[in-house]
Amino acid sequence: MMYPVDMEMNSYLIIILLILAGRYLVELIADWLNVKAIQTDIPAEFNGYFDAEKYRKSQNYLRDNTSFGIITDSFDTIVTIIFIIIGGFNFVDHIARHFNLGPIATGLVFAGILILATKLLNLPFSFYDTFVLEEKYGFNKTTLKIFILDIIKSLVLITILGGVIFSAVLWLFEKTGTLAWLYCWITISLFQVLMIFIAPYVIMPLFNKFIPLEDGELKSAIENYAKSQNFKIKGVFKMDGSKRSAKSNAFFTGFGKSRRIVLFDTLIAKHTVPELVAVVAHEMGHYKKRHITKAIIRSIALTGFTLFLLSIFIGNKKLFDAFKMEHTSIYASLFFFGFLYSPIAMLVSLVENVISRKHEYEADTYAVHTCGNAEAMINALKKLSVDNLSNLTPHPFKVILNYGHPPILERIKAIRMLSEKNSEK
Ligand SMILES: [Zn+2]
Repeated sequence: MMYPVDMEMNSYLIIILLILAGRYLVELIADWLNVKAIQTDIPAEFNGYFDAEKYRKSQNYLRDNTSFGIITDSFDTIVTIIFIIIGGFNFVDHIARHFNLGPIATGLVFAGILILATKLLNLPFSFYDTFVLEEKYGFNKTTLKIFILDIIKSLVLITILGGVIFSAVLWLFEKTGTLAWLYCWITISLFQVLMIFIAPYVIMPLFNKFIPLEDGELKSAIENYAKSQNFKIKGVFKMDGSKRSAKSNAFFTGFGKSRRIVLFDTLIAKHTVPELVAVVAHEMGHYKKRHITKAIIRSIALTGFTLFLLSIFIGNKKLFDAFKMEHTSIYASLFFFGFLYSPIAMLVSLVENVISRKHEYEADTYAVHTCGNAEAMINALKKLSVDNLSNLTPHPFKVILNYGHPPILERIKAIRMLSEKNSEK
């Protein structure tokens, strides 16, 4: 039997479609198991923290979020597959080439159209998530003005930062031959490290206000603790998280002189001083245990590996045929390689999650040992889970796939074991 040439299935196309469908199915199974794992009884640990109604609310929140996630993911996956099959990338490439710019500027137009189109397609979902879903559970504090400003700011940031780094990579691959991946590696790594230093000064203030803790009981309690650990109190900030959501959180960011611990104003409002000191101690644990440095080193190593793989596939004619492209180019290679790379990215994120969960235990251990107040740490974790309607009993497969933090009950169990060991001494 004879087939016209373009009816023949390209082996890269088959692999990419299998990758897209496979990833989708794995996530779907994890979500399904996770919802099935919902238990109607409140775990004993949370008696007195959750009443029956609020616990039911947290489970409905999980169900609603899961359904919404599945709908979004189905839409994304279907649109992507259709776009590939009908030759959408070639259509965008025609538009970009129409302007007759050089290879780098053409690449920027190509990438710009794809990114903008993706953002626009996702806009209704993001709107629904903020103003319907989060609103329904009383979390949303975002106004339409903040919502729109956030989109504009992030587009400007992507244009500037993404534009600079994308141009640099294209230029290096155009001009420097077989070692281009190595030069790209050096360039991107320097850029990454620079961003870690300047993000707390330049990028994060675009979205939130960060003010040093004001004088008072909390500040002096943290000060006393920080002094005992040789940590500069200058590094503890309050962030106006309440302008977007009622959810609360704390995190560690920056590096060297720009390092800081950030507490959401919503967290400060709902926790006692000893609980907040325990949270600060946990974040400081991440710093003292060098979790940030280790993450940067892993990320740089991975960037090198990824760029090396990319260099093998650049301009691969058969890969371009899979996307029905008439012209090969370096800029489009970057996108197409992304599809082939996604299973590796998924494996890497599984490993990163294992490391991250291990680091959470280490930071908890550090907090309990240096603060000596396990109960405050446990209370803080419980309040956080209740206020954020967290899932107390996630399915282990979901945890393996998506959890950067251990499930809350396991963290509490580990902290209790630590404090028992301490009191035996
Ligand atoms: Zn942590």
